[in-house]
Amino acid sequence: TGEFFVESFNLEFSKNTENILERINPKEIIIPERLRDHSLELGKICISFQADVLFDPKICHERIKDFYKLKSIESFGNFENVSLSASGALIGYINLTQIGQKPLLHNLKKWNKKQSLEIDTATRRSLELMKTQNGETKGSLFNSINKTLTSGGRRLLAQRLNAPLISTNKIQKRLNTIQFMIENSELIDKLREILRTVSDMPRALARLQLSRGGPRDLASIMEGMFSIFRIKDILDSYKDKKLSKEIKELCFDLNLKRQLATTLKKALSDDLPIMTRDGNFIRNGFSQELDQIRSYRDQSKNHIVSLQKEYIEITGIQSLKIKHNNVLGYHIEIRTIHEKKIKEINQFIHRQTTAQASRYTTIELSELQKQLISSNEKFLVLENQIFEELKFKCLERYADLTKSSMAISKLDVSLSNAVLALQWNYCCPIITNNKEIEIIKGRHPVVEQSVFERFDSKFISNDSSLNKHKFLWLITGPNMAGKSTFLRQNALICILAQMGSFVPAEMAKIGIADRIFSRVGSGDDLSKGESTFMVEMVETATILNQATDKSIVILDEIGRGTSTWDGFSLAWAIVENLHNIVKSRTFFATHFHELTDLESKLSNMSLYNVEIEEINDEIIFLHKVKKGIAKKSYGVQVAKLAGIPKEVLSRANEILLGIEKKNNPINNVDERLIRHEKNKQPIEKHSLIIEEIKKIEPDKTSPIKALEILYMLKSMMVKNNKAK
Ligand code: ADP
Repeated sequence: TGEFFVESFNLEFSKNTENILERINPKEIIIPERLRDHSLELGKICISFQADVLFDPKICHERIKDFYKLKSIESFGNFENVSLSASGALIGYINLTQIGQKPLLHNLKKWNKKQSLEIDTATRRSLELMKTQNGETKGSLFNSINKTLTSGGRRLLAQRLNAPLISTNKIQKRLNTIQFMIENSELIDKLREILRTVSDMPRALARLQLSRGGPRDLASIMEGMFSIFRIKDILDSYKDKKLSKEIKELCFDLNLKRQLATTLKKALSDDLPIMTRDGNFIRNGFSQELDQIRSYRDQSKNHIVSLQKEYIEITGIQSLKIKHNNVLGYHIEIRTIHEKKIKEINQFIHRQTTAQASRYTTIELSELQKQLISSNEKFLVLENQIFEELKFKCLERYADLTKSSMAISKLDVSLSNAVLALQWNYCCPIITNNKEIEIIKGRHPVVEQSVFERFDSKFISNDSSLNKHKFLWLITGPNMAGKSTFLRQNALICILAQMGSFVPAEMAKIGIADRIFSRVGSGDDLSKGESTFMVEMVETATILNQATDKSIVILDEIGRGTSTWDGFSLAWAIVENLHNIVKSRTFFATHFHELTDLESKLSNMSLYNVEIEEINDEIIFLHKVKKGIAKKSYGVQVAKLAGIPKEVLSRANEILLGIEKKNNPINNVDERLIRHEKNKQPIEKHSLIIEEIKKIEPDKTSPIKALEILYMLKSMMVKNNKAK
C-alpha cells in the first residue's frame, strides 16, 4: 500500500518483538548480521540477514534523503538513530533487490503507539481474534465477522481488527457510514454486486510498477476503474440524502478521470495473454501503424494458404500441406509414398524425410517466411512499445488509483459490517470516554454463530454493567456454565466497538479503553518449555504491571495452575490489587467461591454468577449471568456429565463432605488478612524510600548516577533502622 512506518522498541524484552510482529504480520524481515545469534522469536517469517553496513545510521540518513529527494527529512518528524537505521536499511534493501524499480513509498512516519488500542500477543491468542488457539481461521472472530468481497477489503478488515482505534471521533465516523448503509439497505446489494467482481487493482499496479506486469494487469486496472465509476454513480444518486462524512470523503477519493479507462478499453483485445511476449493483445483500430503491420502479416499468412493450393495443383498430391514447426519453420509436407512425384519437379528443395513424411521448401516459401518473421518481430516490438506507453499512463495515475482502491476497501469493510449487523441483529454502540461498559443483551459473536449452526439453538444473551463505581465483576459458577464465554464476549464487544463496528447486543455503551488484556489460567505453552503455572503468572504479572484505569482486563480462572491454597491466595491478592491499585474495568471469573467473601472489603466490586438449575442431583446449564454467588462448584455433577464412573463419583462426594466440615477456608481468611495488614506496616515506615524509588527513571539514569542513588537509598534504610 506504500505506507511506511518506523517504530522502535527494546529488543531485550522478547514480548515486545512478538507483540509488534503479531500486529504487523510481515511477509519478510531484514536483520543486520550482527544480530544473527541474538535469540529472536520470529516464528515462520522469511528473514534476510544483511551486512551491518546497510544499517549504518549516517549512510541510512543520506539514503532516505536521497530517496525522497530532500535536503532534510525534518518535516517528517524527529527520528533517532535506530529509526534512521531501520528505515534507511529498508530503502537500501529495496534498491538492492528491485534494481532501478523504485516503489512509491508515502512519507516516512513514526508509528504512533497511542493511536490504537493495544492488544498484546497473549490477549490476541486468548480472544482468538485472527486464529483459534489451534491455529485455525475457522472459529476466529475475524472469520465470523468477515463478509468482505474484495481482497483489499479483507486486508483492511484484518488491519482494523489488529489495531482498533482509541479516538471517539474516528470510531464514530466509521459507525455513521454503517448506519447510513443500514438505513438505505437497498444500496447494500447494489454496491456489493459490483464489489463481487472488482479486480485487485493495487496488486496489478504493484506488478506493473516492478515490471512484472502483463496485459492482464492493464485489463485489471481498466475493469477496476469501470467498477469504481459504477459505484461512484450509485453513491452520487444518493447525494440528496444525508451522506455520512466518511461516504462524502469516499466519493471524493473515487472521483477518477475517465480518460485512462477509455483508452485501455479501446486498446486491449478481449482475449488477453498473460505475457506481453505472447503478443496479440492490442485491439484492431487502436494504432494505425500496428494495424498495417498486422495486415501485412495476415496477407503473408493468406499467401501461404494460396501457395498450398498452387502446390497441390502442380504436384497433383491432394494431401500436400504447408506446415510450421520450430526446427524447419514453414515447410511443405507430403506422405513419403508421393516422393517420386516431387522429384520430377525442380522447384522443391528437400529438407527432411521421416518414416511417414517427406518435407521440402521452395525459394518462394523461404522468402515468404522471412517476410513473416520480420513482420512478426516488428509487430511484437510495436505492441510492446504500446504496452509500455499504457503502463506509463497507469503508473502516472498511481496515486489516484491507489486512493480510490483504498476507498473501495473502506466501502467493502463498511458494507461487510452492515451485512453482518443485519444478519445477526447487531446494534450501533455508543462510544464514550467514560469508565463504563454497559451492555444489554450482549452475545458472543463467534459462539452465537456456532451454537446456531451446530445445534440450531439460540445463544443466551447477558447484560453487563461496569462503571466508575462498580468496575470489577467477580463471576462464579461451575465449569461449563458459560463463564469464559461471557468474559470473552465483553472483551470482543469492546474490540468490535473500538474498531468502528456494530456489536452483538441490543444496546452497548462502551467507554474507550487504552489497552485490553485477556488471560486464562494454566494456558499451556509447553512448546516454549515454560511450565503452565509459570506462563500463567508471567502473563498476570504483565497485566498488573501494565494495565491502567483506562484498560479492560479479563481474567479467567487465575490461580488454577498451583495447589488450592497457593492458587486461592494468589487469586485473592490479584483481585485486591486490580481493585485498589490498577482500577481497570475487570471481569474476573473464578472457581474459588471463597473469594466472594471479599465483597464486604472491596466496595467497587460486584458479585455475579452463572445460573444453574439443579433437579434431582442433575444440573442444567442456563448460561444466564445473575447477581449473587454460586452456591457450590458442582464439580462432581459436571464430572458425572462427562461419564466418570458412579463409584468414583460417590466416593468423591464422601470426601468432599468430610473436607467441608473440617476445613472451611473462610474461617481462615480473616486471619490471613490480619497477617497481611501487619505485613503492610514496614512498607509505610519506608515510605520516603519508596517515594525516592518511584522518582527513578531507569532509562534516563547513567550507571554512575544509579550507583549514587543506591548509596542514598542504603543510607536512608540505615537511618530508618536506627530510628527504630
Ligand atoms: P465455563 O467457562 O464456565 O467452563 P464456557 O464459557 O466454556 O464455560 O461454556 C461452555 C459451553 O457452553 C460453550 O462451549 C458454549 O457452547 C456453551 N455456552 C456458553 N455460554 C452460552 C450462552 N450464553 N448461550 C448458549 N450457549 C452457551
